[in-house]
Amino acid sequence: MLHKEKHVQFVHKLMHAPETLESIMTEHLKMNAIYWGLSVLDLLDSLPSKEESDEIMKWIMSCRNRDGGFGGAPMHDSHILYTLSAIQSAVILGHLDQIDCDSVVNYIVGLQKPDGSFMGDKFGEIDTRFVYCSCLSLSILGKLDAINQKSAAEYIEKCKNWDGGFGQKESSESHGGQIFCCVGALSLLNRLDIVEKDKLAWWLSERQTSVGGLCGRPEKDPDVCYSWWILSSLAILDRLKWISCDALSAFILHCQDPENGGISDAPDNVADVYHTFFGIAGLSLMGKCDLKRTIDPSYALTHRALESIGINKEKISLPKVEKIKEKKDE
Ligand SMILES: [Zn+2]
Repeated sequence: MLHKEKHVQFVHKLMHAPETLESIMTEHLKMNAIYWGLSVLDLLDSLPSKEESDEIMKWIMSCRNRDGGFGGAPMHDSHILYTLSAIQSAVILGHLDQIDCDSVVNYIVGLQKPDGSFMGDKFGEIDTRFVYCSCLSLSILGKLDAINQKSAAEYIEKCKNWDGGFGQKESSESHGGQIFCCVGALSLLNRLDIVEKDKLAWWLSERQTSVGGLCGRPEKDPDVCYSWWILSSLAILDRLKWISCDALSAFILHCQDPENGGISDAPDNVADVYHTFFGIAGLSLMGKCDLKRTIDPSYALTHRALESIGINKEKISLPKVEKIKEKKDE
């Protein structure tokens, strides 16, 4: 069973005790932690009160920099990872109007390189994650056309591997998190034609381990966060039924802290807000534990939040049959 009340309490405790939040998450991740926590509350129908929302929004706006981007905490340099979390959090709280659209769009446009790739910040690191974060931020703001979408998609295509997966950059090995970012970005760019769907879905479904949990790369241990990265990729490719959703949800539930709330990466580890979000998001995507199938796999926001900014996503079809996994030549 999903300990909904405990998880809501777990997140509220973090939100109300910033020092606790900082001790659990390092300070530079605070902006991301706010987004993960708010998403859990949204998925569990327990959004903060108006006063609390205003307070959180005030903190988010205190992380805004003159370049138009957002830092992970006040006085920290802007980075696309935190800029996206700030925008997503503002959507959840119903305060997107407080984000200065023009300056944030300018900031993101400035991160794109001539080859279509994106830097994470002014220091220039390149990673396929940043293409997704940039496309998603702009898509939420209705400004996807501000960047060179064609070269962004072509750059992702260059990062495609022989196994159908995608890596961190060109010639990097396929990895579950990176695959999600590339498939998500291509979905937002309306360029899923670049994906070899069956080949990639086979690779993704092979990430389900004997204990039901998903892992990020071959021969790795399962980790609850891949219940989002791998699962949402399969959902975007419309191949959710290629894994056993029953086995995966049993694994996620096994990683809960039934006393203090929260979900950890693996059974009996310490719970954190990151894995709590990805576990509950995975359960929502599968429609397990009486959760509404309300999270959009490309936007990582609920249909409620998306509808509030005029984006209507069709509901994803429920997996009807569980795949009986056939191993090649066995
Ligand atoms: Zn993890």
